[in-house]
Amino acid sequence: MDIIRSVDGMQRRALATKVSGVRIGFVPTMGFLHAGHMALIRCARDLADQVVVSIFVNPTQFLPGEDFASYPRDIDRDRGMCESAGVDILFCPTPEEMYAPDRSVWVEETMLSRGLCGEKRPGHFKGVTTVVAKLFNIVQPHVAVFGQKDAQQAKVIGRLVRDLNFPVEIVVAPTVREQDGLAMSSRNARLTPRQRQDALCLYRALGVARGMVEQGVRDAAIIRAAMADTVLAVDGAEIEYAEILDDATLQPVPIIAGRVLVALAVRVGKTRLIDNVSLTP
Ligand code: AMP
Repeated sequence: MDIIRSVDGMQRRALATKVSGVRIGFVPTMGFLHAGHMALIRCARDLADQVVVSIFVNPTQFLPGEDFASYPRDIDRDRGMCESAGVDILFCPTPEEMYAPDRSVWVEETMLSRGLCGEKRPGHFKGVTTVVAKLFNIVQPHVAVFGQKDAQQAKVIGRLVRDLNFPVEIVVAPTVREQDGLAMSSRNARLTPRQRQDALCLYRALGVARGMVEQGVRDAAIIRAAMADTVLAVDGAEIEYAEILDDATLQPVPIIAGRVLVALAVRVGKTRLIDNVSLTP
C-alpha cells in the first residue's frame, strides 16, 4: 500500500492510473476506522481495480465550538487496517496541504442540505461538498462509496455529482451496526460504558418507527412522538431531531405514502450521534 500525503502526488498518480485504463474506487473518510468503513472498502474493491482511501479530518465541515480538535485520530492503526483490507493507496493530506490560506471558492448544495444536520450544523454541508469536490478532482475516481449511516450526506453528494457533472458513480452502502444494533461510528469511542448503553436508544427508536409503519400507522406526528418517548426514556439523551422525510427530496412528510427516511440525531452526554432507516409502507 502506498501512502501519499501531497495533493500533487495523489493527483499525478491518479491521472496516470486513469489513462492506463485502471478503474479507481474511492472511499473518503475522516479516519479512526471501524467495520463500517471496512465494508465501504470491500464494496469499492468489488467495483474497481484499485482502491484509494482518504483520511482527512476536514476542518471546514466543523463549526466553531464543535469537536474538530478532539475528533478521534489514530493514523497508525488506520494504516494497518487499510493494509489488511487490500487498499492500494492511502491519501492522508494535512489541512495546510488541502487548503490555501487565502482560499475563496466554495461548493454549496442548497436544497437537500437545508434540513436535519444542515439546519443543526449550519455550514457543515458546505464544508462537505467543498472537500468532496476537491477530493474527486485529486483522486479522479470512477466510483466513490459512501455510507447510508450519513444518509443526508450521501444524497447531497449525489446531487453535487449530478449538478456539477462529476464523472463519478456514487454508491451508497448499508449501515454497519454493532451486534446490539448501535450504528458504528468513530465517535462511539468517546462514550463511557454507561453512555454506550444509553446510545442504544437511537436504534430502539428507529425500531419503534419501523414497527409502527409495519402495523399500518401512517401519521408521521404519531410515529415521531413515539420515537421521542423512546429516546427520552433514557436519562441524559437529548433529541436534536427526529424526522420523517420523503426519501428522495428530504422534505418532511405529514402522512407516509411512499418511501421515507426516518432520521434521528441525539446527544448522549457531549457526543452527538446520528442514525436513520429507510422505510417503504
Ligand atoms: P466518516 O469517517 O465518519 O466521515 O465516514 C466516512 C464514510 O464512512 C462515510 O461515507 C460514512 O457514511 C461511512 N460510514 C460511517 N459509519 C458507517 C457505518 N456504521 N456503516 C456504513 N458506513 C459508515
